[in-house]
Amino acid sequence: MARDTLEPMDLKRNLPLQILVALILGAGAGLLWPRGHALPGGFEPYGLFDFLGSLFLRALKMVIVPLITGSIITGVAGAGSGRGLGRLFTRTFAWYVTTSLIAILTGLLLVNLIQPGLKGGVPVGPELGLTLQDPSLAAQLQDKSAGDLVGIIQRMVPVNPVAAAAEGQMLPLIFFCLLFGIAIGGLGPEHRAAQLRFWESLFEVMMVITGWVIMTAPVGIFGLMAKVTAGSGFAAFVPLLKYGATVLAALVIHAVVTLPVLVRTVGRLPAGRHARNMLPALLTAFSTRSSSATLPLTMDRIENGAGVSNRVTSFVLPLGATINMDGTALYECVAALFIAQAYGVQLGLVSQFVVVLTALLASIGAAGIPAAGLVMISIILDAVGLPLEGIALILAIDPVLDMCRTAVNVWSDSCGAVVVARKEGETGILADIDGGK
Ligand code: ASP
Repeated sequence: MARDTLEPMDLKRNLPLQILVALILGAGAGLLWPRGHALPGGFEPYGLFDFLGSLFLRALKMVIVPLITGSIITGVAGAGSGRGLGRLFTRTFAWYVTTSLIAILTGLLLVNLIQPGLKGGVPVGPELGLTLQDPSLAAQLQDKSAGDLVGIIQRMVPVNPVAAAAEGQMLPLIFFCLLFGIAIGGLGPEHRAAQLRFWESLFEVMMVITGWVIMTAPVGIFGLMAKVTAGSGFAAFVPLLKYGATVLAALVIHAVVTLPVLVRTVGRLPAGRHARNMLPALLTAFSTRSSSATLPLTMDRIENGAGVSNRVTSFVLPLGATINMDGTALYECVAALFIAQAYGVQLGLVSQFVVVLTALLASIGAAGIPAAGLVMISIILDAVGLPLEGIALILAIDPVLDMCRTAVNVWSDSCGAVVVARKEGETGILADIDGGK
């Protein structure tokens, strides 16, 4: 039967292209009408960009708590025996830690090779002006220290799981949902079936709502991009270009070489096809600068696009969005060493090792929200004894780098999901993406 109407699925199939066009149009619109520019009649386009972008972000955040609650509980409750779950845990963590460490080492290598903090052998700190202009950031940084990591572990156990959900605190919520799912797995058949039915239906409902939100992504992303380019001029970036290029080069190596090679060799899966499938989620990560806000799209692409089971998707991705951040880990390392170079401080081997370890911990502790990684650098600076004011050096260029590192964070989570699924013996992964249909 011929269809003359556009079905939601058709809209979704064109989504990568729509989002790409929205990104470009948004960036252009922002440059054309910068903040403060009013059109005839007094209408300020910046207000509209802000409105569209925030509405989209709010809608994404709206689905996250019920979506991941339903997803983790059903995934873990159906994950099988204790041993099966333990294996899934081990594989997932092995992926997280290994890829994050490789990312950090890539950053470490490039920052030592390129030395963006030196110009003709002279530290660039004084040239960039070492003052911390933003007092609220200074206050935020004061209470972040290496000791804060113990606090992060402590806060993983929620005093009140409902409050954690209401406040959108991801780690304690995930922790409670994992326990809840494990407990269901151990119930007698009658209660187990009743619980599973409820949570599975809840999850289905949330997937439908998520689908609706995803269809609005092009409009939201247009607004978010336009807001970024309308709000910041290019002048502030110029002295930081070498540093920015170092971070970007390391991110590109990790995303385009390291991860695809791992997907091919460890997972024996087609990395290019995987990337095409993930494009809408990666572009959303880029424009929202938030792995958590992107989570609904990431889950949709992995479960509905790549064909990974709900069991693996719902375990690997929510956890990954919160604790697996390869892009952030790499960035933390490059930024800390850039600050050291800019101050003229030579970090020895032991200090560089401390940087690697704390960068890993900081990336685990960073929330999946914009600029979380920037604040976490203070943990590394604190650990190696560098002044926290150094963060002021890299503030101007951070939003752009945040976009790129967030996309890499989501890319690494998604690679982890398909590889872990493959290792769990799942078949037919990515079979339905283009050539497969
Ligand atoms: N914005 C990043 C994310 O959500 C975290 C960061 O700031 O590095 O993944």
